Amino acid sequence: MERRNKHLDTKLIHAGEPKPLIRGAVSMPIFQSSTFAAEGDCGYYNLRYIRLNNTPNHEALHQKLAAVENAEAALVTASGMAAISTTLFTLLRSGDHLLAQDCLYGGTHDFISEDLPACGISVDFIDGTAPDSWESKIRSNTRAIFVETLTNPLLQMADLKGVAEFARQKGIVSLIDNTFASPVNFRPAEWGFDLSLHSGTKYLNGHSDIVAGAVIGPSALLDPICRKLARLGGSLDPHACFLLHRGMKTLGVRVRYQNESALKLAQFLENHPAVDRVHYPGLESHPGHTLAEEMLDGFGGMISFEVTGGVEAADRILENVTLPISAPSLGGVESLITRPATTSHAGVPPEQRRVMGISDSLIRLSVGLEATEDLMADFDQALT
Ligand code: PLP
Repeated sequence: MERRNKHLDTKLIHAGEPKPLIRGAVSMPIFQSSTFAAEGDCGYYNLRYIRLNNTPNHEALHQKLAAVENAEAALVTASGMAAISTTLFTLLRSGDHLLAQDCLYGGTHDFISEDLPACGISVDFIDGTAPDSWESKIRSNTRAIFVETLTNPLLQMADLKGVAEFARQKGIVSLIDNTFASPVNFRPAEWGFDLSLHSGTKYLNGHSDIVAGAVIGPSALLDPICRKLARLGGSLDPHACFLLHRGMKTLGVRVRYQNESALKLAQFLENHPAVDRVHYPGLESHPGHTLAEEMLDGFGGMISFEVTGGVEAADRILENVTLPISAPSLGGVESLITRPATTSHAGVPPEQRRVMGISDSLIRLSVGLEATEDLMADFDQALT
């Protein structure tokens, strides 16, 4: 296949671009039109309408996303949560059962533990690093297994090869939230995952100016998800499509820089006397380091760490750093710093957070594109 022969960076620029160019426009124009002139009797889902996810802006993005993850098809959504909820509501119905990793992003964890059971769908949480324990959790009505490539915020790496293989053996659908790794560092289809999900708000767009999501995988799974999205209404609007499309063109250079910078910062933090513990898969001290080296093309731009002195000390660091902005979210050009207990995981009850290993004083850093030396100097002054 042509697209398999091209490098990811080439596909980020050229895959899905209109041929011929639209009136010569080098940049994909925004088709800001809710509806399009009907072309005969083509059936409801083939009418051109923004909510049906089939405007020229959607189609260009779908092709680009599928190409960069070496998958057959893709779908963009109004947010990462729209991608996750719509996909799970498509795959699961009342009476079904889901296996989910026990330390997922707080919003996903809340959706899985509150909204799915309210619809008659049961859930069991699994330790992604303990494959021997999964068999005891599977039931005759288990339909899917859900993990993250690198978990938010502890950067845990599950036995991902094991997850894809387990799903294949059991005849269930494997889903992976690939937000933290991005397609630059991990392409789930290449490792046998059925569906890859993204918060496009993060690395894919990379500029902290939209909320978006994506689902990537085979057409046979994507088509019903696309129709469910059309019915639930969580479709991405063309202007956000345009920004996501533009942001994705620089994904390769951004993420590779962030990989390098985060590794240097993680090493610096690990050697700093005011830091107790650093979670970063690129460090040899990380329990998933060997697996990360084998499966990932880079260790990513996310670091989390504990400082001596607990919550007060953590808050002082958030106040004292001058470059990273204290804000939730991640994956943008600017470094962002947060305490997950007060932001991304604030919705998870404190006792559950403790079980997940997320202490109140844990700090999460999304490394941006600032000079690494400036970030290091900033952390040095804030920690001292
Ligand atoms: N998945 C992960 C790993 C996330 O970190 C987030 C948000 O922080 C989401 C999904 C949800 O994405 P969105 O905020 O775009 O709905």
